Amino acid sequence: MLRDSFGRVATDLRVSLTDKCNLRCTYCMPPEGLDWLPNAQLLTADEIVRLVTIGVERLGVTEVRYTGGEPLLRRELVEIVARTTALRPRPQVSLTTNGIGLTRLARPLAEAGLDRVNVSLDTLDREVFKRLAHRDRFTDVIDGLAAAHEAGLRPVKVNTVLMRDVNDHEAVPLLRFCLEQGYELRFIEQMPLDAQHGWSRENMVTADEILDRLTGSFDLTPDDLEERGSAPAERFLVDGGPARVGVIGSVTRPFCGACDRVRLTADGQVRNCLFATEESDLKTPMRAGATDEELAARWTAAVARKRAGHGIDDPSFLQPSRPMSAIGG
Ligand code: SAM
Repeated sequence: MLRDSFGRVATDLRVSLTDKCNLRCTYCMPPEGLDWLPNAQLLTADEIVRLVTIGVERLGVTEVRYTGGEPLLRRELVEIVARTTALRPRPQVSLTTNGIGLTRLARPLAEAGLDRVNVSLDTLDREVFKRLAHRDRFTDVIDGLAAAHEAGLRPVKVNTVLMRDVNDHEAVPLLRFCLEQGYELRFIEQMPLDAQHGWSRENMVTADEILDRLTGSFDLTPDDLEERGSAPAERFLVDGGPARVGVIGSVTRPFCGACDRVRLTADGQVRNCLFATEESDLKTPMRAGATDEELAARWTAAVARKRAGHGIDDPSFLQPSRPMSAIGG
């Protein structure tokens, strides 16, 4: 098991398949993009599947979420998903994506056994989308969402980051849209993980503010308080349910005490937290011939060192040098 010194057990593995993305969301990366990892440093599909297999078969991983960068840009994605869903015990397998390309890939991914998708959508206004993501791809995202729903990747979850004076007037319309389409919306507080280091606490739209806006138009009642477990989202029934909305207050309502996540970057580094400043290299020993047992031992030792919390509120907090796109959100 991947147990840390505080007794938490990591069972939810987030795997970044690439650091590249076809959008440039302002809270994530600059318009000109970043220096992408050289191909030789990226784990191959076989290496990814080998590490995921070690996680599932030896270390108690029960959920695998593929992310990035943009995972739909990874050519072998369908193959990687199929090989992951063939593992026993079978893990839950999901994808976090910007949705561009799902019109083509949702069905093959569903056929490969993918269980769910989270699609990022921050606005319903094409012009705002262009300003926020620096690309005119709004329609592709909306079509991608519909394709995922049609392919049965349900419930389709929608991730939204609200930014002050950019899209924070859209909380209510976004929730209405998701209710109408049968998607489950979750708002995520903006975190200090952008490559430009432009995050500021004052500009962050907090969970409290989001809930204030929503309660002006909807009746929200807390859902499954006792069952929240390690789920990052606080969930609320909307107008009595069954529809729900989630709010992930990573900054103002941290949930580190219940964290069950561990991350693998596209270049084969284990990270215990989005905000970790330390990583443990699995790629180099793997390429030098380490056995599965040795890799499992390194991974176990890495998780044992997981810190108590993300420490954003500590005076000594330092933003990690890798931006979100290179960690895997
Ligand atoms: N490209 C995929 C996507 O758009 O979903 C996967 C990677 S993206 C880094 C994963 C999630 O992280 C997205 O929902 C995105 O909105 C969120 N994200 C990126 N930067 C963030 C930040 N600084 N604060 C909060 N969420 C962020």
